Amino acid sequence: TPVVRLRGIRKSFNVGEPNETEVLHGVDLVVRRGEFVAVMGPSGSGKSTLLNIVGLLDRPTAGSLEITGRETTGLDEAELTRLRGHTIGFVFQYHHLINAFSAVENVMMPMLGAGGVGREDMARRASDLIARVGLAPWADQPAGRLSGGQQQRVAVARGLAMEPALLLADEPTGNLDTKSADVVFELLRTVSREQGTSVLFVTHNPELARRCDRIVQVVDGRIAPEAPHPSAR
Ligand code: ADP
Ligand code: ADP
Repeated sequence: TPVVRLRGIRKSFNVGEPNETEVLHGVDLVVRRGEFVAVMGPSGSGKSTLLNIVGLLDRPTAGSLEITGRETTGLDEAELTRLRGHTIGFVFQYHHLINAFSAVENVMMPMLGAGGVGREDMARRASDLIARVGLAPWADQPAGRLSGGQQQRVAVARGLAMEPALLLADEPTGNLDTKSADVVFELLRTVSREQGTSVLFVTHNPELARRCDRIVQVVDGRIAPEAPHPSAR
């Protein structure tokens, strides 16, 4: 079973109003287990809209969206929230960390939301993740005092905290310098591979995209036919 399967996904904003616009015009996409997929395309082409739909944060206007084999379009808000919490992790361009909380505490946040695990276990798992992204010496520092690259590494650890089947990463390296972007990207790749997590990675950086398993191009609300991977040429 693929982790994600989209069939004929359409999305319109301002439905029924004079300024109604269709932004996604029938997107088909399959993401297999453990696949690391780059999502590229011009600004305004619909990448964020697509990620919001796959992340169950916004609903499509038409089409089918299966997450780990389960059709989601008929689910109510509570069911979507539950499925999202257990299945999907997020990393954004702006990390949205809680500055006054330590690195470890920020990674614990999604675990506290999901419940079911004791606080000791959560702290141990969060510390382990912080170590895996190379931040052990800063584990108890307030997130607000870390560098931009370090903060984004905390955000990666937090996104992977629940060992999600799918991680959605919307330009997570977008406002980092080349060296920090490289470190964050490689950590994302290594830790997601270790966990078997599939990743949709939105980027404008062709150098990073080339290192992904596959590149998906979004152009004017559609997915362009895929070119063979550079390594296959
Ligand atoms: P990208 O992420 O590729 O830059 P977006 O998905 O953010 O593209 O936007 C695609 C198009 O949808 C743009 O024209 C944008 O203005 C429009 N759009 C996005 N969100 C909304 C919204 N909530 N209401 C109306 N239009 C929107
Ligand atoms: P991106 O980084 O994808 O280009 P934007 O800056 O275009 O993001 O959009 C940021 C947020 O604003 C998104 O949540 C998007 O849904 C919303 N948005 C974008 N365009 C519009 C619009 N025309 N009307 C209302 N909301 C919009």
